[in-house]
Amino acid sequence: MHNIQLLKEFLSSRKKIVITTHASPDADALGSSLGLYLFLKKNGHDVQVISPTEYPEFLFWMPGHDDVIVNCPNSFDHIKELINAADLIACLDFSGYNRIKNLGEVVQNAPGKKLLVDHHLNPEIDADYDVWDQTAAATAELIYDLIEALDGKDDIDVDIAECIYAGIMTDTGSFKFPSTSSKIHRTVAELIDIGADVNKVSRNIYDTNSINRLRFIGYALAEKLTVDENYPVAYFVISADDHIRFNLKSGDTEGLVNYALSIKGMKVSAIIMERDGEIKLSFRSVGDYAVNNFAAEHFDGGGHKNASGGHSEDSLEKTVEKFKSLIPTIKEK
Ligand code: 5GP
Ligand code: MN
Repeated sequence: MHNIQLLKEFLSSRKKIVITTHASPDADALGSSLGLYLFLKKNGHDVQVISPTEYPEFLFWMPGHDDVIVNCPNSFDHIKELINAADLIACLDFSGYNRIKNLGEVVQNAPGKKLLVDHHLNPEIDADYDVWDQTAAATAELIYDLIEALDGKDDIDVDIAECIYAGIMTDTGSFKFPSTSSKIHRTVAELIDIGADVNKVSRNIYDTNSINRLRFIGYALAEKLTVDENYPVAYFVISADDHIRFNLKSGDTEGLVNYALSIKGMKVSAIIMERDGEIKLSFRSVGDYAVNNFAAEHFDGGGHKNASGGHSEDSLEKTVEKFKSLIPTIKEK
């Protein structure tokens, strides 16, 4: 934590605050944003959450969702004004400006102070205040720590607790990933004591599949999953046609990559996918193989040691060929 006491002083008078997070926000990104939003609003600030892109419907239950402005050609000018007028811009759950699409340049050059709350490696955002910890399981965990450091724990109500819980639950893979610490269980215990309904949050996020999505997963598992013959690597290739055939929505492919990693003995899994006119890649690993380095080196990406992503300017076919040619470099550790 850096300069959080200074942030506390800064927040002692009403401020205009913009909160933003990475493109295609997941439950940690949006839960962190809305948790902080509700807390700051409760403390009398003028706060606006801005999402660089749309996000999936399974996050629409989150308190404060209706107040989020989603970046699109129609809203961009207004968003630019808000960012440039903000006294404080909170950057949550991303470490590089290229993660917020065309808002990157606007945020980077905006005159307001910046707060970074994040758990990714090598942050490139030059923040005035930060809560950055790459060992944290979720940005939402750090939002809880931030609120505590601002002496705001008594302001955490059920809505804020459920936003934070959602981020922690999903970014720990429901308390399974190696980042699941005793500290995070203690934080969650406090959130439950405040009244967070863990079953409600879990059902809202995991058990609101559309029939299309379930059929898509069945199809992907049956026909789109390749297991390499020589290396413990398995991957899906999903085309634009697949998106059309199953009428896939934002978030419908989320989690698919984990199925490939659930195969016994598998060390690395990937999805290579055509989405919104670009090629997006997701990588997951178990153990020591660092897929963030792999993503950074070959696919202009990054992330965490065991969960990363990137993108490619090539066609789907070329990207798949490139990935396949790199499989032998993925050495088992
Ligand atoms: P996902 O596969 O769920 O899209 O992303 C997994 C993780 O990889 C994210 O939490 C994020 O940290 C990282 N990530 C995904 N896509 C990119 C990308 O294009 N660039 C960078 N730097 N990181 C990414
Ligand atoms: Mn996160």
